[in-house]
Amino acid sequence: MAGAKTVPMLDLKREYEYMKDEVNDAIERCLKHQKWILGPEVKELEERVALYIGAKHCIGVSSGTDALVIALRALAIKLKGQEYFDRADHVITTPFTFTATGDAILRSGATPVFVDIDPLTYNIDPVQIDEYVAQHPRVVGIIPVHLYGGPCDMGEIMEIAGRYGLFVVEDTAQAFGGTWQGKKLGSIGTVGAFSFFPSKNLGGFGDGGMTCTDDDEIAELTRMLLKHGGKDKYDVDHIGYNGRLDTLQAAILLAKLAYIDELNERRRRVSEIYGAGLCGISGIALPTDSTQPQTPQQPSLPDGHVFHQYTLRIGSGKRDMIKKVLKDKGISTTVYYPVPLHKMKVFGEGRSVRAAELRRAEEASATVLSLPIEPLQEADETAYVVETLKGCFGK
Ligand SMILES: *Cc1c(COP(=O)(O)O)cnc(C)c1O
Repeated sequence: MAGAKTVPMLDLKREYEYMKDEVNDAIERCLKHQKWILGPEVKELEERVALYIGAKHCIGVSSGTDALVIALRALAIKLKGQEYFDRADHVITTPFTFTATGDAILRSGATPVFVDIDPLTYNIDPVQIDEYVAQHPRVVGIIPVHLYGGPCDMGEIMEIAGRYGLFVVEDTAQAFGGTWQGKKLGSIGTVGAFSFFPSKNLGGFGDGGMTCTDDDEIAELTRMLLKHGGKDKYDVDHIGYNGRLDTLQAAILLAKLAYIDELNERRRRVSEIYGAGLCGISGIALPTDSTQPQTPQQPSLPDGHVFHQYTLRIGSGKRDMIKKVLKDKGISTTVYYPVPLHKMKVFGEGRSVRAAELRRAEEASATVLSLPIEPLQEADETAYVVETLKGCFGK
């Protein structure tokens, strides 16, 4: 095939063209009403997402990171009657995630505890959560991350949380619209935190996020914390933030929400083409449903996965070489994430705990490679990626 093709990781211009009229109309309506702070679109988005996710309360916030921080702060106030957690309070999470997951725990005053991942799904391993919690009474909660859009084992996680009285904050930043056993991700734990960062499955034209919960008290505290810490911003109760979702972002997100199921389905279709084209190549491990038997012809895709990323594992130290070959042929790829959290300086100096050796997370960091997965990617673009990659393995 001709080498002139380029395939980006994501093509936001293409997505904008696809829904231009609705998005432009939404922006125009804001220009007319000029209600930039907590305007009508914020409330409408909150109500629409609450229906979509199946949560009692959804609250717009300024980013996915703030959604996590504010959720944890609200939990500290509710559970401990104090503004922040203590360093002795342990919150379990995965080291194989975006920095913000662990950073939010530090900013809430608690200590992040990293447990290792399941090597097939890249998500936190419930067995290791259970082992740590059984020996450490100071664990207060768990933050599972639905990495790459794939659901964590929420059945096991909620069972452990129930047994020990722990909160669960689902980091659903990468999995808007994803499900676990038919339930929308973000609606299963105590709180779900979403990001509307432009590259996420539902992305705005800037930063944005949302928290979802069925808990009335946490919802009320969240609304206070994102408005400086009080019901009345001129007379506040808590150490708060200026953490609101912009009206303009809410308006754009409302227009894009109408397309989310279609775009997630398109992501799944791209991933089917990758799966069919790349299976059976030794040296490449595909995202698969670890609970189902696999056939060499067509690996079964994980149920409820919304393919924020389509991530391969390329062993034998070849990953970086293959990344470069693909780049030279116009194909962008990304390593999410090259450094696991426990290796970062910010989580050093006694600020975090390693529950055990985190070898699987370290191995994942050294071997994963995410391919372009633009929902509007054409079949021939996906085929070009497949053929080029097969060529790297002499197929
Ligand atoms: C993007 C992301 C966040 C943070 O969201 P922002 O909106 O960028 O603040 C948190 N956790 C994960 C797993 C993410 O991918």
